[in-house]
Amino acid sequence: MPLQIYNSLTRKKEPYISPQGSTVKFFVCGPTVYDYVHLGHARTYIAFDIIARYLEFAGYHVRYLMNITDVADRLVQRAGELKKDPLELAKEYESAFKEDLKALGITNIESYERASDYIPQIMTQIKTLIDKGIAYQTETGVYFEVKKFPKFGQLSGQSQEELGLRRLELCSSKRNPEDFSLWRRHDTGLRWDSPWGSGRPGWHIEDTAISIAHFGDTYDMHGGASELIFPHHEAEIAQAEALTGKTPFVRFWIHTGLLTTKGRKMSKSLGNAIRIRDALNKYTAAELRYYFASFHYREQVKISDFALKRASNRLKSMRKNFNAFQDTPAIARSSRETKLAALIRKAESDFRKYMDDDFDTPRALAVLTSLSERLSRLGRARLDQHTKEGAERAFLRMANVFGIL
Ligand SMILES: [Zn+2]
Repeated sequence: MPLQIYNSLTRKKEPYISPQGSTVKFFVCGPTVYDYVHLGHARTYIAFDIIARYLEFAGYHVRYLMNITDVADRLVQRAGELKKDPLELAKEYESAFKEDLKALGITNIESYERASDYIPQIMTQIKTLIDKGIAYQTETGVYFEVKKFPKFGQLSGQSQEELGLRRLELCSSKRNPEDFSLWRRHDTGLRWDSPWGSGRPGWHIEDTAISIAHFGDTYDMHGGASELIFPHHEAEIAQAEALTGKTPFVRFWIHTGLLTTKGRKMSKSLGNAIRIRDALNKYTAAELRYYFASFHYREQVKISDFALKRASNRLKSMRKNFNAFQDTPAIARSSRETKLAALIRKAESDFRKYMDDDFDTPRALAVLTSLSERLSRLGRARLDQHTKEGAERAFLRMANVFGIL
């Protein structure tokens, strides 16, 4: 069975068929860098880190690209409050974000690309969309005319009628309420000169400018939190496919479930956000990663100190069991098939089976837990060096997909 991945675009699991050793072009939406990131971000980025690690485990080469949104109204507003230059402020929070990801053990992102470095590409895309008659200019900026892209709504499962009721970006100069901005005119704050007046790009166009520059007109996987499906990812598909005429823009759309605390979504605006750096003063990265891996990436994760402590105890006992196995001296003897080798083969095959089933980390983690228990019991038996070392390597290789040991 090849790897199956749930595709938000088709709402079903589909096989990911690509030859072994091939490259996976993988894009994940990065944060708007106007503040520190919180555990809600950690939930998403750890999930995609595990997915990227597993793709490597399964023999693919992952080219993992992330955008950094350093052009945004929220950022301009915050910079104004702090009397700082928006791009300087963005760089400070970008560094803090990268430190946080590193501290969480997320090290496989190949490149981070800032929106502000892609203004020429963004302008070229906007100009093409206007030339094609899909985007139009008003006195406030440039807008994508949703009616001109009949497939709009496919990712979020909305009809054109439903979309007509949506009020995106209130602005009286738009032709239709559902149209979204590609460029907004601004006379103050962060802005660039353009054929459509001084201003700055809309949010959605930065992703298509960055991903098309790096990956070309179509690529393999795009990830993000499920709250980004509409309008952000819907708009990305519309922009890219209208620009290039190639479809699908992205083969697999992958979305993570929410993080909630005390029954509410964790978010900065609700005032219940726990910064990653504060959480890391209390829990290790391995404990947080273990906890998140015990939920499927599409599931909603409820977080509490009680639940985190329980997870950290489970991780402790897994470690203890594996250490007990490692510490048992092996005896010199020629390699032979033992109960141990069969046990490892079965564990590896189950691990792959579950991870191949839309990255079912809770079940794959259970395989590792049960393997650690059996290894600890086996440690007391007489094991030959070769088989014992092979078992240790196999266990660590699987644990490394989660980044927990
Ligand atoms: Zn994005």
